[in-house]
Amino acid sequence: MDGTGEQTGGLVATAAVRLAGAKRIVVFTGAGVSTDSGIPDFRSPNGLWDRYDPRQLSYQRYLADPQVRRLSWQLRRELHGMRPKPNAAHLACTRLAEAGRLAGVVTQNIDGLHTDAGLPPELVCELHGNGRWVACLSCGDRLPMAEAVARVEAGEADPACRTCGGILKSTTVSFGQALPRAAWERAEAMTACCDAFLAVGSSLVVYPAARLPELAAESGARLLILNREPTPLDPLADVVLRGECGELLPRLVEALLEAA
Ligand code: NAD
Repeated sequence: MDGTGEQTGGLVATAAVRLAGAKRIVVFTGAGVSTDSGIPDFRSPNGLWDRYDPRQLSYQRYLADPQVRRLSWQLRRELHGMRPKPNAAHLACTRLAEAGRLAGVVTQNIDGLHTDAGLPPELVCELHGNGRWVACLSCGDRLPMAEAVARVEAGEADPACRTCGGILKSTTVSFGQALPRAAWERAEAMTACCDAFLAVGSSLVVYPAARLPELAAESGARLLILNREPTPLDPLADVVLRGECGELLPRLVEALLEAA
């Protein structure tokens, strides 16, 4: 299977038939949904993992080692400078919401592109937090990432909290850090009530996030997995679409809405 041609058109049409009638759809998105916006994923060739191992930037190391914090700020500065825009896959999720068929998007991404694409915040559950904000790990004071990055660019390699002197960190979940409880509970509730669960652009190897497609399948929802490469959960899925999110998700959504 590839992302082009008649064969794929047929597979998208078949997928839409399998999902037809679904009214409470959850779309679960991973870094692959944002690669068309220019943000590298972790595990693809040239992905972020080729440049650094996020486990080396674990929460525990971040707390303990100023060198790890300096490297983290350089990466944040780089990502902040990309100014990414939503792509066709994000817009397809918004289209589902506009058609009244979306229960919500549960995303592992920290880039904020689903809300930029017009999804109301109440329909977006950011499981791994949001990289546009920074918080003090001691007093909880918050500031926009743009402000913190400006301080890094002005020469503060590891900016400290201006209220209490504590360590500042993006409001994202690092390796070794627990998921925000409220976000996890929302994601579980959305998953438990959905009638179709679309896992899109995720390697489905990061737990507990990857537990959600398993839960969806266990609770009887139809499970579709769309990814460029195989995932360990493909055998659980009712439909597997192999190809590009930016091409196949919009086609799938249109076909689904046509099938009603
Ligand atoms: P991952 O890197 O493990 O997997 C991404 C998957 O998407 C890969 O299997 C890859 O083959 C596939 N892919 C890449 N581009 C694609 C495309 N255009 N179309 C179809 N498939 C494509 O990412 P993950 O599963 O989300 O888990 C890794 C963690 O990385 C998450 O916790 C996430 O928070 C974090 N992350 C987020 C961002 C972001 O916010 N944009 C970027 C990198 C990493």
